[in-house]
Amino acid sequence: MSKIAIDFKTGQIKNTAQLVVGIDLGTTNSLIARINDGRAEIIKDFQNKPLFIPSVINVGHDGVITVGHEAIQKLITDPESTVYSIKRLMGKSLQDFSDRKEFFGYHFDESASEGLIRIRLNDRYYTPVELSSYILRHLVQEAEKALGVKIEDAVITVPAYFNDEQRQATRDAGKIAGLNVLRIVNEPTAASLAYGLGQNKTEALNIAVYDLGGGTFDVSILRIEDGVFDVLATRGDTNLGGDDFDREIIKFWKEKYQLYPENPIEQSELFFKARAAKHELSDSNNFSTTWNHHILSLSNEEYKTLSQPYIDRTLDCFRLALSDSGLHIHDIDELLLVGGSTRMPIVFDALQSFYGKTPNRSLHPDEAVALGAAIQADILAGNRKDFLLLDVNPLSLGIETLGGIMDVIIPRNSKIPIQQAREYTTSRDGQKNLKIAIYQGERDLVENNKLLAEFILEDIPPMPAGIPKIQVRFMIDADGILTVKAIEQRTQTEQSITIKSQFNISAAEVASMLQESIRFAKSDQEKKALIDSINEGKYLQLASEKFLKNNHQYLTSLQRSEISNLITYLKDALDSKIRDHIELAIEALNKYTAPIAHKALDRNIADALRNKNISEAINNETKKDG
Ligand code: AMP
Repeated sequence: MSKIAIDFKTGQIKNTAQLVVGIDLGTTNSLIARINDGRAEIIKDFQNKPLFIPSVINVGHDGVITVGHEAIQKLITDPESTVYSIKRLMGKSLQDFSDRKEFFGYHFDESASEGLIRIRLNDRYYTPVELSSYILRHLVQEAEKALGVKIEDAVITVPAYFNDEQRQATRDAGKIAGLNVLRIVNEPTAASLAYGLGQNKTEALNIAVYDLGGGTFDVSILRIEDGVFDVLATRGDTNLGGDDFDREIIKFWKEKYQLYPENPIEQSELFFKARAAKHELSDSNNFSTTWNHHILSLSNEEYKTLSQPYIDRTLDCFRLALSDSGLHIHDIDELLLVGGSTRMPIVFDALQSFYGKTPNRSLHPDEAVALGAAIQADILAGNRKDFLLLDVNPLSLGIETLGGIMDVIIPRNSKIPIQQAREYTTSRDGQKNLKIAIYQGERDLVENNKLLAEFILEDIPPMPAGIPKIQVRFMIDADGILTVKAIEQRTQTEQSITIKSQFNISAAEVASMLQESIRFAKSDQEKKALIDSINEGKYLQLASEKFLKNNHQYLTSLQRSEISNLITYLKDALDSKIRDHIELAIEALNKYTAPIAHKALDRNIADALRNKNISEAINNETKKDG
């Protein structure tokens, strides 16, 4: 039976020939994958070779843009106009790189030191988002050519440690490339999916994903339970990867053979030789080549010595990630190896001895992330009804209510996407504005939580305190983007705010927030109880003062002075900020005024009825006259 896909946004029937893809937008290389006959596969080009594109862009003097394999040649012939490692610059400002500018062979726009980075290529400035979009477009165009179908929908992966700005920048790059970005997915989550983990809803697993690529390293600890992928911890080094090994080899050769490359072209040649050495040593014990009349060689033993310090650093990160996640290495059910540099035998051996079991490298380490992204895209396209991929919001979200109390609207660990609404009201007569302050965290008082945003709902029609109905709605979409909307129900006055992804909070932050909420639970509750009493006391004080004023003529002088005294007693108790005093004063005032208030209420009702009768009588008179 064929499926008919409906686009919920437009209500249109979707073209079923359309393909959803998964894209691994990598620092060094980018890949695109799809589901074919129920299996994830890297899309192949005309020569039946996997579409594997170096993440390199060249902008020619004529403005012509070349991407991928062609552009890589330009690293030698035109290094100043050729951009690599653009992923490192996503969502960053020049300030972030002030100490490492020379690492990049290209020029930055120095005038924009505080804003987002821009790169100067042949007298024009380009943003990393723009440059990344060229990579994406190139990949998609190549895939479309090879398959003969149009590609619009895609899932793009990012490292688990990417923050809001970096995720947003990646999403924007997809949009500029003409893609409908279904979701931005964490790379370790995608890798786990590619390995078929988490698809059995009854299994609960702890997974470590060790990803050593060209320029970056990260290790993530995931917990998969009931189809929910939770990133428990992620650690890494955004400046550690295969490039470091290349550089170490170059340094070693330069010292050993006294090499002095004289221009960027010679430097690039040397770089390619070093990389070739590294790759060959993954399969053999020795490497040798020639460069500028020198014979360069490198043995496996020498290479081990050069790379060991870097591998040790990755293991340190691994230990920290484990400790952040609260797990021990023995608790890890699967250790997945991802990224081209995990092909190095020295990496594999080091991990095997650290893990005590064999790490899983059964998938092509360069391909796992793209394959997983394709699976995720397939799920989102609704092709796998049996399998729902869920994420959870890591910390509770709520708003500040009277006295600084955190009122949780979406509790922590709720499965997203989710919507939740609650009704609030004003605390002062005629109150026109209501401040909505949005917080994240587990503590009872907002002062201990994290303020995410605030806005003011204006133009509430004047009404007595407690009468307006203001609905505050929290909505978290599949990417973790939170939108908060406040609506005054009578006039439908509305105000809303969107807060970027909630996922960028680190597992360490979540853990420390939870620990604090437990540690301070008792004192938080005491403070909250005091604030509740103060709120109640203040409300009673205002109500009693109003009552005294409105019912002045019906009260005896004794009643008036007694109520006044009790109000003063309550005010003093409120000033003392001692909960027991306040409670006593509330009780005393309530006890004394309750019977009087009942009587007053009866009288008001009787008055109201009498007034009604009178007006009816007048009406009758008028009718008679008429
Ligand atoms: P990725 O960013 O995951 O594509 O990884 C690219 C890195 O993997 C580059 O530094 C490559 O030099 C490195 N790499 C690819 N193949 C091998 C190999 N056979 N041995 C060692 N490193 C490799």
